[in-house]
Amino acid sequence: MTKVLIIGAGGVATVAAHKVAQNHNVFTDIVIASRTKSKCDKLAADILKRENVKVETDQVDADSVPELVALLKKHKPELVMNLALPYQDLTIMDACLECGVNYLDTANYEPKDEAHFEYSWQWAYKEKFEKAGLTAILGCGFDPGVSGVYTAYAAKHHFDEIEYLDIVDCNAGNHHKAFATNFNPEINIREITQKGRYWQDGKWVQTGALEIHKALTYPNVGPRESYLMYHEELESLVKNFPTIKRARFWMTFGQEYLTHLRVIQDIGMARIDEVDYNGVKIVPLQFLKAVLPNPQDLGENYEGETSIGCRIRGKKDGKELTYYVYNNCSHQEAYKETGMQGVSYTTGVPAMIGALMFAKGLWKRAGVWNVEEFDPDPFMEELNKQGLPWHEIMNGDLEL
Ligand code: NDP
Repeated sequence: MTKVLIIGAGGVATVAAHKVAQNHNVFTDIVIASRTKSKCDKLAADILKRENVKVETDQVDADSVPELVALLKKHKPELVMNLALPYQDLTIMDACLECGVNYLDTANYEPKDEAHFEYSWQWAYKEKFEKAGLTAILGCGFDPGVSGVYTAYAAKHHFDEIEYLDIVDCNAGNHHKAFATNFNPEINIREITQKGRYWQDGKWVQTGALEIHKALTYPNVGPRESYLMYHEELESLVKNFPTIKRARFWMTFGQEYLTHLRVIQDIGMARIDEVDYNGVKIVPLQFLKAVLPNPQDLGENYEGETSIGCRIRGKKDGKELTYYVYNNCSHQEAYKETGMQGVSYTTGVPAMIGALMFAKGLWKRAGVWNVEEFDPDPFMEELNKQGLPWHEIMNGDLEL
């Protein structure tokens, strides 16, 4: 019997809201609030049609702590699922503390004026959440999210020591657009154009943006060029699994996508500082978002699947072992169930499962936590039941 408040009404929030409604026996009361209330109303109508569950809707500017506090006082949820943008993480955490509400998100805080992500800002809330007796679950999407749960599961069941971790993220889908991003374009382009970074022998090694790449073979997909990037879960995973000697993150991109991205950067459209246009201040990347396809509209013609997993090498009983755990998710299946494509689906489903873990009391602990700090077993069980089944390959060739 849990009342949950979802903030945001974009691609990820849409999937999570449908999934929360499908688990209505646990989430007895559901509220969706976002900047544009009409989007929440449209989503609520779709949930009524698909899941036959009534949800309440509201409007909020999640950049404003007073507005958030008023929203939380009005609806009195037990848990807030922050599925807006990373810019709002801290304001929502502040409001949760003020109102005694638990917290979950899928992406770590980023300041708007600096394309830089790290957990330090949110980890700094640990003591406050502990003192308030509240749980905050950070990064509960797929990556971060399932990638951390997979690693925790591998550490618990298969390894004495994890030494090498490679998170591999392939989107082998085709949305038939010349260029589109699969989640919020502003956040996505900020992430991909950053310098690369990986963990090696106790320190971070920096690379040029997308400088290191190689073909990796994905199950049911085949070989795809994969690019080494920095990704936020590396920061918490090397801290929580100190035996890790090297941790890297790889993502696939097609040549067309990379060419468009290069042009966008070269002509200054990826800039995040304000420029003056006819007396109006605009941020080029935010303007670009307004003219690019909306990731929420990609689903209908999206073919193919995603394949995301962890490739791990380490020791068990003194012997070397390799382990690959992954999920493949079909864009069309995701669209049929929720009206959204696979990237929103693979993020929204784990967000709901994290909320389910909290609601069942399995992941309820005062403080601020990354997902790998909780018991992975009940989460892994739910992944199989809620639409993201996983598979294991023991002692295969990791290619890495
Ligand atoms: P969208 O842009 O589709 O949705 C964002 C939603 O947040 C929109 O409904 C938007 O409102 C709302 N919003 C933005 N600013 C505010 C504000 N100030 N107040 C209230 N609402 C606001 O993004 P996605 O659904 O694609 O992504 C959502 C989150 O998921 C992001 O943080 C993203 O980084 C994360 N993510 C995580 C992944 C993972 O695996 N861990 C993978 C993919 C995404 P409006 O409609 O008015 O614009």
